[in-house]
Amino acid sequence: MLYGKWRPRGFEEVVGQDHVVATLRNALATDKIAHAYLFSGPRGTGKTTTARILAKAVNCVEFTEGEPCNACSSCEAINRGAALDLIEMDAASNRGIDDVRELRDKIAFAPSDLERKVYLLDEVHMLTAGAFNALLKTLEEPPPHAIFILATTELHEIPATIISRCQRFDFRRVSIEAMVARLGFIAEQEGYVVPEEGLLAIAREARGALRDAITLLEQITSTYGTSPSTDNVLESLGLVQDDRTEKLAGALAGRDLGAALGIARDVAGDGIDMARFTRETIDTLRERLFVAARERAPEVGVLTKAVEELAGADFRRDPGSAVPLEVACAAAVLSQEPSSPSVVTAEKLQSSRTGQRPERRAQARRRDPDDESREERFLRELYERCRMTQPALAAWLNGSCEVLAMDGEELKLGFYHPIHMQKIANDGRTLVEQKAEELLKRPITLAVERIERSAPASRPARGGHLAAAAREMGAKPVEPAASSPRARASEEDS
Ligand SMILES: [Zn+2]
Repeated sequence: MLYGKWRPRGFEEVVGQDHVVATLRNALATDKIAHAYLFSGPRGTGKTTTARILAKAVNCVEFTEGEPCNACSSCEAINRGAALDLIEMDAASNRGIDDVRELRDKIAFAPSDLERKVYLLDEVHMLTAGAFNALLKTLEEPPPHAIFILATTELHEIPATIISRCQRFDFRRVSIEAMVARLGFIAEQEGYVVPEEGLLAIAREARGALRDAITLLEQITSTYGTSPSTDNVLESLGLVQDDRTEKLAGALAGRDLGAALGIARDVAGDGIDMARFTRETIDTLRERLFVAARERAPEVGVLTKAVEELAGADFRRDPGSAVPLEVACAAAVLSQEPSSPSVVTAEKLQSSRTGQRPERRAQARRRDPDDESREERFLRELYERCRMTQPALAAWLNGSCEVLAMDGEELKLGFYHPIHMQKIANDGRTLVEQKAEELLKRPITLAVERIERSAPASRPARGGHLAAAAREMGAKPVEPAASSPRARASEEDS
């Protein structure tokens, strides 16, 4: 595995997390080592890697200039994954109170091969409430030889009592530039020749997760050999590679609605994934906007509006339809007509915010990410993982289905379209089952079902099978129903 091979062994090599590395090195240099750390941030940004480097640093016999030596017996044992006193626990599969109690019982014993026992608890947000309580007690009175490193992608799910006991580090999405530099370095070391444009496409596709970028590089070179062309890269990423994104951006910048609608219809007619095409158009628009803003060009207004409208286009009801894109194009161009009274002014924005003038845009289009259900988060993560392996197949999962059941050994997905359902059930079955197993940490059999399309806003999202599944997973219904914030809000509305 390329990622494992090039996993950073020292702080110097950690990419894109300079703020974390600088603070940790400073603490190590002044011997101010905390007993509990909380590493939060998106997946693939280096949390576990940094945790292992920290574990080496606090145990290294030859620690100098802010780096573990990677040569002493402690460093070697950790690098080989053989150190008894670096205890890595995946909270996703050990989430109960008994798991944490067992850990607490063992923690009292002195370390056996290292100087300090380091507990690395990954996906710590998965712990149950009882397990968090047990953990809190340990964090309140840790034995002097123990260090905890908690890692999570979902900071908002960690109790405040736990957060307050830890020194917190927020890992950021790795920038495109930093990612291209690292990919370029790895490619060079491996003897690959990949065009800069190809590296850029990989970096963009990985959306801040360096691990994903390196995995993609590995897949591309294993498919196309050590010198893939830019076209090879784009093809394997399942990118549209369609000059119509550029044309559509041009039409919008020039306020040519007729041309824009023609392109949208054309693209949909070719059976292209519209959500993906729209995302790529947004990238193109953003690049144009960047240039236009710097040059103070007149099309800044329409470009801004176009990015805003296209970003709000919702393809979940019908991924193959041109309608959301057409509506977004029309809204962007028409609102920016020079003579139009509907040019957005600060005053109007203000009044629409205070509700005096209801906006056409439904509230549902701007969804609060915290409001996502567990099923939606799972589905998003499943899609992301499938996309990293087989982007073209994964596209059939994108916005085309919902989770009907994810408890037990059956994962049941409900599809809006028979074609998407068949694609996933036949060609995509192995992929989906494999990725779902990785996520749920148990054997999974995929089941599919055709369901009627329903607008996300009007879907009784918290009722029926979803609520039943949530209850089975331990969620408690809010009683009485009328006192929930959602119900209160709708009472106030009416
Ligand atoms: Zn060492």
